[in-house]
Parts: sequence; structure tokens; C-alpha cells
Amino acid sequence: MSAVFTSDSCGLTYPDGTQALLNTSVSVAAGEFVSIVGPSGCGKSTLLRMASGLIAQTSGALSRTGTVQFVFQDSTLLPWRTVRKNVALNLELQKIDQQIIEERTTAVLDLVGLLDSAEKLPRQLSGGMKMRCSLARSLVLQPNLFLFDEPFAALDEITREHLNDELLHLFQNQHFASLFITHSIQEAVFLSTRVLVMSARPGRIIAEHAIDFPYPRHPDIRYQSDFAEICGKISADLKVAHS
Ligand code: ADP
Repeated sequence: MSAVFTSDSCGLTYPDGTQALLNTSVSVAAGEFVSIVGPSGCGKSTLLRMASGLIAQTSGALSRTGTVQFVFQDSTLLPWRTVRKNVALNLELQKIDQQIIEERTTAVLDLVGLLDSAEKLPRQLSGGMKMRCSLARSLVLQPNLFLFDEPFAALDEITREHLNDELLHLFQNQHFASLFITHSIQEAVFLSTRVLVMSARPGRIIAEHAIDFPYPRHPDIRYQSDFAEICGKISADLKVAHS
């Protein structure tokens, strides 16, 4: 499958001399869900910002096909706008014809199962619905790559599992290419086609695991022995990464 994002031996040193990334090679193909795990401060967010084009690599080559969108959890939904108006916002900013905005917004709300809640305000939504709304807001722009920066880090375990189930469901329907940063090995394995492990700073990829569980995945794969086995392998890599 064709790559939507490739960083080829990219390094990134901030202006103050902090070397955040070193020879980082990452690629995401269309339809792939790639997660990155690594120690705090190893350069994961830097890698996402570089992938988005917000900051530029200082060495190596980077290629991107099409557009990228960050997906945030719920904090960036505008509380005074309805679900429909939140999803339409980015299209309105692009001055697209109102009728096309309506059509595209309706189609995406249907896709994420929020059509019945289109006139609700964010505070009336459950955590799962807020996430679907955030994702819908990005989906409506039809980006080629979605970037997730630890979207569920602040949540309790049960809520997190629930949102993982929802995100997996959406991915299985849409197969949007994703680069997903997380501290949770279980979350990474559960969702991803591939999991990459980053070293401590300066960050580089030290291990790569293809996750072979076929999609659609059942939530109960979390309790299978082969699931625990792959999590164990990644955990061992992370111990090396920390050292
Ligand atoms: P992670 O997401 O893995 O926790 P970051 O990408 O946020 O790591 O940060 C990697 C390193 O770069 C850290 O040491 C951090 O302090 C540093 N860093 C992040 N942003 C900047 C910046 N704008 N200027 C200088 N150093 C930065």
C-alpha cells in the first residue's frame, strides 16, 4: 500500500540545542494504524508535530501525501456549539458552500453514529460520544493521515477501554491512516496494525512489531494469551528503551 507519511532518517534539534529526534524512520501506509510507545520526553510529540508539518526536521527527508489532522479528545470542542456546528466548524472556516457543508457534516455524523445527537451540546455527551464528535470534526476534512497524541492518557482504565473499543470500531469501518502516540502497550496492541518502540531521547525507533490479529477485532482479544505475549515483548523493548 502507498505511504501517506514517511520520515527517512529524520533528526530534529530544537533551536536551544535539545536533540529530540535522531535518525527516525517511520512510515504509515494508507489504511494503517501505527502506534508509537516510548519513555516520557523521548520525542514522540515532536515526531507528531514534525509529521503534521508544524515543525521541520533538521536532518533527513520527510514526505507526506495529502493532508493531516490532529485528533484531540474532547477539550477542544466548543461548548456553545452543537455537535453539528462543532463538526461543521472547520468547513465553515474554509468558506465552503453552505449546502455542501450540510451534506458532508450529515454524512460524517451518520458515519460515527451521532446523527441523532446532532443538536446536542458537548456537555450533554458521554465521553465516547465526545470522542466520536472530535473524530467527526477531523473526518469531515477528509485528511489522509490522523495524528493522535495520547488522547486517552488522563482517563480511568474502564473509560479508556470503552473509548478504545469505540475507536477500533471506527477504524474498522473507515481504515483511516493513523499515527497514534500512547503510553499504554495494551492500547497500542489492541488498536494497531504496527507498534513502534522509541528509545529515550534523542528518540529513534528501536523496535517494530506487526500486530497480526485480524480486523474486525473482538474486545476480548485483550484476554488472549497471544495478546499478553506480544505486550510482553513490547514491554521488554521498552525496558531497553529506558536504559
Ligand atoms: P514526548 O512526547 O516523548 O514526551 P517531546 O517530543 O514532548 O517528548 O519532547 C522531547 C524532548 O524535546 C524533551 O526533552 C522536551 O523537553 C524537548 N522539547 C520539546 N519541545 C521543545 C521546544 N520547543 N524547545 C526545546 N526543547 C523542546
